[in-house]
Amino acid sequence: MQPGGKSLRKIAVVGRGTAGCLAAASVTSLHPDGDHELHHIYDSRIPVIGVGEGSWPSLVQQLQQLTHLPHETVQQRLNGTRKYGVAFEGWGRRNRDFTHYFTPQQVSYAYHLSADLMADLLEASTRARHIDAKVLDIARVDGGARVELEGLPPERYDLVFDARGFPKELDPARHIEISFIPTNTAVIRRCPAIVEEEGDGPVRQHTYTRAVARPHGWIFVIPLTVHTSYGYIFNRGLCSLDDVEADFDAFLESDGVAEFEQRAVIPFPNFVHRQVYDGAVARIGNAAAFMEPLEATAIVSAQLQVGMVLHMRLNRSPVNVESDAPAVNRFLVGSMLRYGLFVGWHYSRGSRYDSEFWRHARDHVWPRHRKAAHPEVVGCDALRRFDEMMELLSQPVIDRADWDRMCAVPLTSYAQMSQGLGW
Ligand SMILES: Cc1cc2nc3c(=O)[nH]c(=O)nc-3n(C[C@H](O)[C@H](O)[C@H](O)COP(=O)(O)OP(=O)(O)OC[C@H]3O[C@@H](n4cnc5c(N)ncnc54)[C@H](O)[C@@H]3O)c2cc1C
Repeated sequence: MQPGGKSLRKIAVVGRGTAGCLAAASVTSLHPDGDHELHHIYDSRIPVIGVGEGSWPSLVQQLQQLTHLPHETVQQRLNGTRKYGVAFEGWGRRNRDFTHYFTPQQVSYAYHLSADLMADLLEASTRARHIDAKVLDIARVDGGARVELEGLPPERYDLVFDARGFPKELDPARHIEISFIPTNTAVIRRCPAIVEEEGDGPVRQHTYTRAVARPHGWIFVIPLTVHTSYGYIFNRGLCSLDDVEADFDAFLESDGVAEFEQRAVIPFPNFVHRQVYDGAVARIGNAAAFMEPLEATAIVSAQLQVGMVLHMRLNRSPVNVESDAPAVNRFLVGSMLRYGLFVGWHYSRGSRYDSEFWRHARDHVWPRHRKAAHPEVVGCDALRRFDEMMELLSQPVIDRADWDRMCAVPLTSYAQMSQGLGW
């Protein structure tokens, strides 16, 4: 039934962050032959990012399928809460708070989760040989890829998932910069829990990621059962870290948070790799694409990358691998860019703050999107698909046949954001 299984005998996953663990567990779960060889390679001296605590509803189903554990057990193992959407405070031109719900509203939920516990949970469902070594290079060879390891002989694989995290620097020949997103740095703090645990069971309370506009950017608030995670997302080119820390202090004080633990300052790129998949090497997670965490698009993107590549490789005949690769790549690059357009659009109507950051974001950064995502620059039709959603939103009546349309996220997400932002 799965003609590709026979040509996928030896697979490597490089990286033990969220993306690598998801890939390794997916290979174990989806590969039809139990005797395939899976090597999970990571360098324990290189830390994982470890934030990444918001998700989309598809993760709830997927974790159940990968772990074979009941949903309640998965949620508790993740110190998780049920995320029904994102609560926006101070965004847009209406000076009105609003919520972007998952659809169906109040039914569909995702998790707020502890990223390191998710890695442990997935690893417990993975059958692999673990190799703790630095990967020096991953190169395509005839019919597969060769991985060079520090202090060990090189290995050849039929498929390699490269989940080594952010690229060291962006190179226009290899990366599409999402220059229409105005932020590039996060300050992470951890504060006491605010959700109430109920007896022995999972927390059933409906929770939301708060996305609070602030003068220098915005703050996320993610409630887990053991702590609450706060992150100030800003542009380090526009203001100093001291200014951000001072505004962060003021926000926590006004929120009634008496104590916090400073966790990290994380610079990040907003980009999509032009070559996510070439037939033998699949970049996944932060190695493939990243954009600021406003809509928690990273884990769901990794799910899509891993799922798409594995399904194509297992379900298509091996003779199609080379000819499928460009189409799969174009689909994945386009999907990541569509997420980027959706996220960048959130800044298009400014916020309640008439500050340097918000004027810059609204008047200078978002207007770049047409040039930056032009099909000739990016090699895919993400911009056209985004424009089609904008056109639908401007119609007096949206035809029933269009209700299920998507551009990375469903039309309902666009409609809610459009209303909320005052678009
Ligand atoms: C501020 C912030 C907030 C975020 N919030 C969210 C969120 O709410 N929701 C969400 O979905 N995502 C979020 N993310 C994204 C989150 O980072 C990713 O979902 C997740 O961490 C995926 O990372 P990764 O597995 O690709 O890479 P990493 O976590 O960076 O892991 C890289 C792995 O590769 C290994 N490695 C690296 N180089 C080598 C080498 N040469 N040889 C061997 N091994 C190597 C490392 O040891 C490590 O195991 C956020 C990110 C940031 C910065």
